[in-house]
Amino acid sequence: MKKQPLAFIDLKRQQQRLGSSVQDALARVLAHGSYILGPEVGQLEHELAKFCGAKHAISCSSGTDALILILMALGVRSGDAVFCPTFTFAATAECVVLAGGTPVFIDVEEESFNLDPMKLEGAIQAAKEAGLRPVGVISVDLFGRPADYDVLQPVCEQNKLWLLDDAAQSVGAKYKNRSIGTFGIATATSFFPAKPLGCYGDGGAIFTDDDDLVPVIKCLRVHGEGKDKYDNVRIGINGRLDTMQAAVLLEKLRIFPEEIDMRNEVAERYNQRIGNIVKVPALRPEFTSVWAQYTVRIPGGRRDAIAAKLKERGIPTGIYYARPLHQQPAYRDYPLGGSAPIAERLAGEVLSLPMHPYLEPDEQDYIVDALVTELAAS
Ligand SMILES: *Cc1c(COP(=O)(O)O)cnc(C)c1O
Repeated sequence: MKKQPLAFIDLKRQQQRLGSSVQDALARVLAHGSYILGPEVGQLEHELAKFCGAKHAISCSSGTDALILILMALGVRSGDAVFCPTFTFAATAECVVLAGGTPVFIDVEEESFNLDPMKLEGAIQAAKEAGLRPVGVISVDLFGRPADYDVLQPVCEQNKLWLLDDAAQSVGAKYKNRSIGTFGIATATSFFPAKPLGCYGDGGAIFTDDDDLVPVIKCLRVHGEGKDKYDNVRIGINGRLDTMQAAVLLEKLRIFPEEIDMRNEVAERYNQRIGNIVKVPALRPEFTSVWAQYTVRIPGGRRDAIAAKLKERGIPTGIYYARPLHQQPAYRDYPLGGSAPIAERLAGEVLSLPMHPYLEPDEQDYIVDALVTELAAS
């Protein structure tokens, strides 16, 4: 095949498509010289809020900082239990600890890989028995697929818990025609380059409809500033997004809706070709995904060997995640609400295939043919 080696996420092709627009945008920043909270930052926040249908968007320095800023603004403190899925990237739980709270891990659903709302009540009891105060839930829309908000939200309300959406992988997705960015008290997202909407460095954003949270988050983002950053009314952080990254994101946001369609076409082609051979991501008609990852399951202890064979053929794959958080050295002393058999099984079976908007049909054929051959031989 001519185009080898394949990229897992091909940012080069996106750059080619963007042409000189990013360079021009960066040249404008160099010309005005307002590198911190320059005009592009405000413009981006306006465009992001419009894109998601959220009342407010506040940009920040990363997805991790977006989560931390929200948790700080919500007043998370020592003794607070925050429930989160155990099958996620470490940042989801890391932020809870950094904000002063205790993450309580919950297993995920077999079908969606997202937090299992049915296991939330049991985890709340377990947290109370451990002497913790349940305060909130962080849902994660893993791999770009929304969590089940119609089930999660009522459970949160009944138990007086806030709901925070870690949408680092899912901005642009929809749940029942409502965009991610509008669920719960606030949403955090990431613009890390490999995320569906990425910049050329670190970046993130917070979405909320809550007018009271906005000034608090903006204050915390700049060292807890009052009148200015030399008037400190809260303990904050340096959590701003660079003007340069905002300029990049404004250009990328223009093509993002079309890229989401392209991602869905790629996912559909995978579904059609391998849907009856391996377990492929299930999607219900009321959801759309942005396919941050296209993740199949390869059971029977064969996953790593097949990944190695694909690599020999020039096909990169990823394992998200090889270990659930409750089994990670840094997190294993935090409470697990019940047990997590599904997350533990997924960790041994998941394999993410190359996924990006610019993956061409002949490349997908090559990937699929190789996977089918290796599965048959294993
Ligand atoms: C990437 C990611 C984050 C962290 O985002 P950064 O911008 O890298 O800090 C948080 N949660 C999830 C689920 C992620 O995938």
